[in-house]
Amino acid sequence: MSNSSGRAMLYSQAVLRPMIDLREFVPLAPYTTLQIGGPARFFVEAASEAEVVEATLFARDRGLPLFVLGGGSNVLVSDAGFEGVVMRVGVPISRRELQEGESVLLEAGAGESWDDVVLYAVDRGYAGIECLAGIPGDVGGTPVQNVGAYGQEVAETIVKVRAYDLQTQSFVDLDHTACRFGYRRSLFNTEQRGRYIVTAVTYRLRPGGEAALRYADLSRYFATTLDAGEKPTLRQVYDAVRSIREQKGMLVGQGGADGRSAGSFFKNPVVPSAVVSQVALGAGCRPDEVPQYPAGDGLVKLPAAWLVERAGFHKGFAMGRAAISSRHTLALVNLGGATAAELIALRDAVVEGVEGRFGVHLEQEPVQP
Ligand SMILES: Cc1cc2nc3c(=O)[nH]c(=O)nc-3n(C[C@H](O)[C@H](O)[C@H](O)COP(=O)(O)OP(=O)(O)OC[C@H]3O[C@@H](n4cnc5c(N)ncnc54)[C@H](O)[C@@H]3O)c2cc1C
Repeated sequence: MSNSSGRAMLYSQAVLRPMIDLREFVPLAPYTTLQIGGPARFFVEAASEAEVVEATLFARDRGLPLFVLGGGSNVLVSDAGFEGVVMRVGVPISRRELQEGESVLLEAGAGESWDDVVLYAVDRGYAGIECLAGIPGDVGGTPVQNVGAYGQEVAETIVKVRAYDLQTQSFVDLDHTACRFGYRRSLFNTEQRGRYIVTAVTYRLRPGGEAALRYADLSRYFATTLDAGEKPTLRQVYDAVRSIREQKGMLVGQGGADGRSAGSFFKNPVVPSAVVSQVALGAGCRPDEVPQYPAGDGLVKLPAAWLVERAGFHKGFAMGRAAISSRHTLALVNLGGATAAELIALRDAVVEGVEGRFGVHLEQEPVQP
């Protein structure tokens, strides 16, 4: 194999095994929404489950690390790139529906655009994922961090995740309980991180169900656009969520500098409720003025955006070519040509600023391969 950039080769373990199209030294930046990151030593787009297996064998036989990439909307690739095999999962565009009692079980391939699946469900009157409109990325990425927005989480609907288990080298069906979902977490990004390659996800949806209106932003939106007592349709909620997202620079496919982000860069910290008075002290306000949401077991969830703002980092704050979005305090953006090192320097400044002021540590959301 040569060092020539982007060189392609076909690989198969044996006769009657699928050929996979491997490329070498492929820049990863174009495959991420941040548009940051150096090259992958090997890059393969796996278009079927058989190709997923073949690519894992290629990596295993050479002792190379493997990184699974979806839509690249929640990753921060280093400037050095990835010294292993990056597998972009494109498997397989097949949508299957099964009626089960009052519900519809909708199965989608890991490589499908998530927003397309939401629109498909909404157009058929299937409730359950309408508030998750406009989120970038693919179906396969949704269970990984239990995607959530505007009061809904994908875990509320997931009944089955089909995945290739690298440990047992076989395909498995994981049910809802096995996925161990929590706030922005699951089996796939915690204790079994890197073990499974998701190839399909099944969502339980409610035909004819009402749209979820649990979030203040959404209720405000409809207070001005609907008559009192009128309930929005699923399609109206889908459109409203996309419109609110667009104003915040958080909509899939949005252009400009604010579009070059990984969405929220920090998770909302969940802390013991006693920490609230310490936060109030740092903010110079009363404890009851600190925004907080009960998170069970004596814990509260604090809005990371509020902490970041109160620590003195405002929308548009820039360090070199990395900045806080001009429309959303939690999104770190690439102003154009930013390196991973620049983004990490900004991240560290924000994390240290918040920790210094409030004693609360902000956890990063995007994954670093
Ligand atoms: C503008 C913007 C807005 C966003 N808004 C939200 C939001 O409101 N709520 C929210 O929760 N997230 C949000 N995100 C984050 C992101 O869109 C989601 O986390 C999304 O589900 C990631 O999917 P992906 O296909 O892009 O995964 P990637 O970014 O490619 O990968 C993310 C992680 O999932 C793993 N992964 C991906 N596919 C697979 C697979 N098939 N099998 C196994 N592992 C896999 C990767 O290895 C990596 O660890 C936003 C991002 C952007 C850019």
